[in-house]
Amino acid sequence: MLEDGKTVISRRKLIQAAGLMVAAAGILGEGAGSVAAVGTGSESSVTKASQGGARSILPKGASRTRRDIQEFVDQIPIVSTHEHLRAEKAILAGFPEPLDFSQILYTYNPADLISSGLPKETWDKVRGSDMPIDEKWKIIEPYWEKSKYTGYGWAIDITIRNYYGLDGLSSNTYRELDKRMRAERRPGIYSRMLKDAAGIECGVSNLKDEWSDELAGQKFLHPSRLIDQYVFLWSADDLRRLSERTKRDLGTPEAVRAMFDDIIGGWKRTGTVAAKCYARNDMNYVPDKDRQRVLDAASKQVDEAGRKSLQDFMFNQVVKACIDHKMPIQVHTGLNSGNNYPSLKPRDPMLLWDICYNYPEARFDVFHAGYPWMREVAVLARVNTSAYADLCWEHVVNPAAARAALDEWLDSMPASKIFAFGGDYWQPEGTYGHAAIARTNVGEALADRVERGRMSMKDAKQVAAMILHDNAKGFFGIS
Ligand SMILES: [Zn+2]
Repeated sequence: MLEDGKTVISRRKLIQAAGLMVAAAGILGEGAGSVAAVGTGSESSVTKASQGGARSILPKGASRTRRDIQEFVDQIPIVSTHEHLRAEKAILAGFPEPLDFSQILYTYNPADLISSGLPKETWDKVRGSDMPIDEKWKIIEPYWEKSKYTGYGWAIDITIRNYYGLDGLSSNTYRELDKRMRAERRPGIYSRMLKDAAGIECGVSNLKDEWSDELAGQKFLHPSRLIDQYVFLWSADDLRRLSERTKRDLGTPEAVRAMFDDIIGGWKRTGTVAAKCYARNDMNYVPDKDRQRVLDAASKQVDEAGRKSLQDFMFNQVVKACIDHKMPIQVHTGLNSGNNYPSLKPRDPMLLWDICYNYPEARFDVFHAGYPWMREVAVLARVNTSAYADLCWEHVVNPAAARAALDEWLDSMPASKIFAFGGDYWQPEGTYGHAAIARTNVGEALADRVERGRMSMKDAKQVAAMILHDNAKGFFGIS
């Protein structure tokens, strides 16, 4: 754990996944936290950190309850509901290229750098370029100094301190960080950084379609595949092209349904554990009696209303196929990454209500806590048997809000429907730091409930195991 702002590298006895979970929740309270500090930030090295890894942040003067719960939470092998991590060979090859210290900022920090004033065109020249690292740092530094206190900044700060053993990101450290990141790109990086140090047992990773096959046959990352290319058609031409691509006449609802049966069934057979929908949230239920009419209209000309009807129809068909093949559907809701987009309204999770209500046997993994609509997600998941609430990405989007949401969610929906962690990064350094914030938030929220008399210690530990491990493992059918 990180105490009082200083890095303390701890080597802890790792408790194996099998022995830990709910059945053991009452037993481990005392023995789980044999934490022994073996170094400080200035002395520590990558090697030391990767032997155990600080897994959460415990404030100085934390209560006995908080310490007990945090130590328990720190041992839980996390099942991450959502990553964008490619197969290890891609990371070793430098993805996301080129590899230098600035890669640690990728995925989300650029949005904060740009929000604080870094011109996007300037960042576009830095990102992915082979500009010398001294030049890159000169451009980044003033905006990093302005924006480093956000959740995105906190996550990578944790990684730089706890995993790379450096004193944060600054003029004094970026060159050494560059060296250590390069040295760490060697076989076993996921085992060292994510399994051993961060304590992540496995995860669900959503990749570009052409990369999903990279994950075949390995146990750490299980693919989730985008359905958008089949669902979000924009014109009669798109429908025709899909017909050509899939070598089917898609002129009847039955043919469309058969296409989705083949796609989802094929994914299921080859190890895909979820379908993912990114494009929009305002899909509506299409009754069977309207299907042929919608499809006939779409095959002629698609205007604005017709386009939505066509996309709704396709989405309804894929939901039915997913129900039949017991495939969960992950849906992006709430905040989009990036800057300067026109509206967030289409991301309101309440827009999913019609679909969730009409397909009670489906399983929708509602992403990102719907931030900022976190209470809406709680209502959606409490009322609808098909909806589950997922804090993936959220502990770095807004750490304080994620912690508060967890407390409220436990008051307002079954704990079995909550997923407490999805790293949601391309680079493993992001997921490492994010996991530490998530463990801290889970420990803090649960300790607070115990101290308020709202929950027993035994129940708090059981809930921690459910939301960080058991719920996700069961939901995705990961053995
Ligand atoms: Zn994502």
